[in-house]
Amino acid sequence: MTKFAVRFLTCLLQVSSASASERAISITMDDLPVAPGSVRSLEEAQEITRNILSTFQEYRVPAIGFVNENRLEVDGVVDPARVALLEQWLQAGLELGNHGYAHLDLHRVDVATWEQDIVKGARVLDPLLARHGKTPRFFRHPFLHTGKSVAIRDRTSAFMKDHGYRVAPVTIDNQEWMFGFAYAQASTDADKKRIAEAYLRYMKSVVEFYEEQARAIVGEEIPQILLVHAYALNGDSLGELLGWLRGRDYRFIPLEEALQHPAYASEDQYTGPAGITWLHRWAITRNMPKSIFAGEPEAPDWIKHDDRSISKPLAALDRRLSRRHPFHPNRAFPGFRSGRSFGQSRLGHSRWSNRELQPVGSNLGKPRLLCDDAIILAGWPHSRSTR
Ligand SMILES: [Zn+2]
Repeated sequence: MTKFAVRFLTCLLQVSSASASERAISITMDDLPVAPGSVRSLEEAQEITRNILSTFQEYRVPAIGFVNENRLEVDGVVDPARVALLEQWLQAGLELGNHGYAHLDLHRVDVATWEQDIVKGARVLDPLLARHGKTPRFFRHPFLHTGKSVAIRDRTSAFMKDHGYRVAPVTIDNQEWMFGFAYAQASTDADKKRIAEAYLRYMKSVVEFYEEQARAIVGEEIPQILLVHAYALNGDSLGELLGWLRGRDYRFIPLEEALQHPAYASEDQYTGPAGITWLHRWAITRNMPKSIFAGEPEAPDWIKHDDRSISKPLAALDRRLSRRHPFHPNRAFPGFRSGRSFGQSRLGHSRWSNRELQPVGSNLGKPRLLCDDAIILAGWPHSRSTR
């Protein structure tokens, strides 16, 4: 072999090892077996599951799915056909975690009820895992709501420890669910295509945003943890996002491996009302200036608000939420007008002084819908079969 060839090969090896170790991401999928709002029949649920799992297999993604056991039930009875969907996840070598039986919101129910819901959410899951030689290891908070007081945080942390769960954080939080919901309502291929294209554009911008957020908050890029939901949209389109991530030098890693990065041992004292990314929790705990959060991408208005028939269900949600949800974009924001600390109004956090606050153009200041919140408020049959 010539000296040039040796040098060329060495160079190639260096490049490939550098890129292989450069970026990593864990893909987490909530609301299994299939997310609310998307499924009208068992056949549809089976198709969504098939598509999601074949996408994960194609891109060799060691994903974890978080289960709501009430989604396994039909008229209050566990449906073996729906349990079989979870079985397929395990057969594909993927992991499953607990997401609560009925997706209860820790910020709306008392702690004891919330804890009981987690125990209830393991009745099918734990024996299923045991049959595959596995034990439950991870818990994902519904709405990413982790408790509005130190006392509740401490109590639920102890509960997690006692029950052998590690909390599954999220670093790339996003409005993916809005696209998933719109896609489920779309009746034509042209609408679906338009939504899927907008979804991919949006998700790419979100990934880029949180790469930058990690650099600004942690000081370097860290293994990211992406949250998406078990929607038909992801069965059909997640593969393209995964391909893009791979081209961006991301390795797909298990949640457990991501959590080994020291950043995930960062202190999190956030006790505000919002379900926010762990990157922002760490930043708030460290009292970092709010300007760091500026520029978070938003879903386009036609996905959020309706200018076409496919978005009508979303527009209906919007109207209801604007009356009931304190963070809704359409709701007048008293925090702005009265000059009260925006940190307090958005995050229930009083450390930011008014001087630091920059509501205009600062994205953490942008009110945001919360995933299943919208669906619950819209009266979606969250606790019943959506058959
Ligand atoms: Zn959820």
